[in-house]
Order: sequence, then C-alpha cells, then structure tokens
Amino acid sequence: MKCKLCRTKKAEIFLKPYGLGLCRDDFLSFVKRRVERAIDKFKMFEEKHRVLVAISGGKDSLALLHLLKGLSYDVTGYFLDLGIFPASQEAKQRILNFSKDFGISVIIDRLDEVFVATLPEIGKIMKRPPCSYCGTLKRYFFNRRGMEFDVVVTGHTLNDEAASLFANNLRWDFSYMGRQYPVLEEERGFARKAKPLIFVSEKETAAYCFFCGIEYYEKGCPLAKGASSIFLKRKLLEIDDKRPGVMYTYLKEFLDRKRKQGFMPEEKADMRPCEECGYPTTAQGLCAVCRIRRRFVQHAEGVANNERM
Ligand SMILES: [Zn+2]
Ligand SMILES: [Zn+2]
Repeated sequence: MKCKLCRTKKAEIFLKPYGLGLCRDDFLSFVKRRVERAIDKFKMFEEKHRVLVAISGGKDSLALLHLLKGLSYDVTGYFLDLGIFPASQEAKQRILNFSKDFGISVIIDRLDEVFVATLPEIGKIMKRPPCSYCGTLKRYFFNRRGMEFDVVVTGHTLNDEAASLFANNLRWDFSYMGRQYPVLEEERGFARKAKPLIFVSEKETAAYCFFCGIEYYEKGCPLAKGASSIFLKRKLLEIDDKRPGVMYTYLKEFLDRKRKQGFMPEEKADMRPCEECGYPTTAQGLCAVCRIRRRFVQHAEGVANNERM
C-alpha cells in the first residue's frame, strides 16, 4: 500500500480513525501539524516563551518534549522522582538517556528532597494508598517549578482528555466540564498550563517514538493498576475501533464549541496564600501539601515513639 499523501513511498502506518495510510515522513508531519494547530488554535504559547514540559519517562510526554523541540520551542523537561522502586529509577534512566541523545535539558527533583519522603513512604506512614497523594503532590511541584517558566505543558493525549470528558459526562459533572480546557491562564500563584497533545492519540505517540528512535519507559506506574480511568479509556478505544474517528470528534466538537463561545474558567473560590509555603489555597492556614507534610511528620513521630516503647 502506498502513502495516501505523497503516493510514492510505502505506507508504514494506517490511522484507522482518519482512514489514512501514511509513509513515515508524512506521518511525522501529520503529528507535528496536529500539535502546531492545537497550540495556535488555543493560543497556548509562542516561540518567545520558555516552556517546561512535565515528563514521566513514558511515550506521551517524551514524544511531546521531542516534538516541541523539533518545532523550535524553547523547552526544558521536568521529572519529579517519586521514589517508587524500581519504576522511578528506570524511568529516570530513560529520561537521562533521552536528554543526552537529543540534546534536551531536563530538571529532576526528588520528592524526598523537595518534600519530606518518597511517595511509597508517605503511603506507608499515613496508612493510605500512595496514589491518593500522587496527583496533589505532582500538581504542586509542577506548578512550583513552572513559576520559573512562562508555561508548564503536560503530555495529556486525545485518549486522556476524551476519557476525562466521558467520565464527567457520565456523572453530568458540569463543574469539571466547565473547567476542562487545553490551556489555563496564569493566575496569581498558578503557572500557565497547556496540553498540546489533545488531538494526538496514544497510538500516534507510540508510533512517533518508534519512528524517532525514542526509548521510553513502557511499564507505566506500578501503583496505578486498575484505576477507573484506565477502564474508561479502554472502553472508549473499543468504541473508536467500531466507529473510527468518534473519539476525536467527541473531544474536538466539545472544545471547539467552548472556544467559539469564548471560554472563561469559573471564578476560583477565594484563594489566599498558604501560611507556610505561600501556595494559593482555598483552605484556612495551610495548603493541601503542607497539611500532608505536617500529618506525615506527626504520624512518623508516633511510629517512632511506639517503636521505642
Ligand atoms: Zn508519504
Ligand atoms: Zn503550603
């Protein structure tokens, strides 16, 4: 089969949602255009901006970092090492290799250094699943590093965003649907955030990595097995397989409608700076992360005292 665009080279990938068989070069251009168009359409950032790309070592975020560098943006990768053994070490090694291979600089923070302990230690001491702290901690540290840059971008894909819209639809959660948008403006204490991969699927990021020789961490988070978001993502893929392109249209129509209506995020509830770290919070006194730290220290002291007795 010949490439549908150039009609000369052999098609190396078939994109079922669009009925397109493409050669390697035309596929790479296709993905680049998708990203460029999302950045322009939603006015995410410009070439003069310094962009921090949150990376996990997985295919989506590494593909994004590589893509943005290829589009001549001023990019730096950011990895928060949560201390999950051995996943974090393996992911970090992939990132260090990637950084060297493609000449892209990367910042690495260790959670036990910038916070108080690794994620598994926090879960163990607090006697709760570590995953219940993961999102809060990541958002906090991505934001804190992001304040040194013009914008923080994440590798959320078409699959992620469509699944999250699906989950919100199932609950008719208008509040979340109201906030779902691929770019959020900077606000006092919050970095500007954007998701340039919203119209690129995970199959496409995997193929992009393969064609560009990007070796990524494939195993995903060992703590997140069985999360309900994974179930919805799989179901959406099944629907997309039966009705090709439906996932793309589902998300695109939703976001285009919001964009045309002039998206305005809901008024944030009254925010004030955390008494300890200055991070904006709706809580009185301490922000969520400083509260986790305080409880962790109290629990850890309790454990130490019990052991002494
Ligand atoms: Zn071609
Ligand atoms: Zn705080």
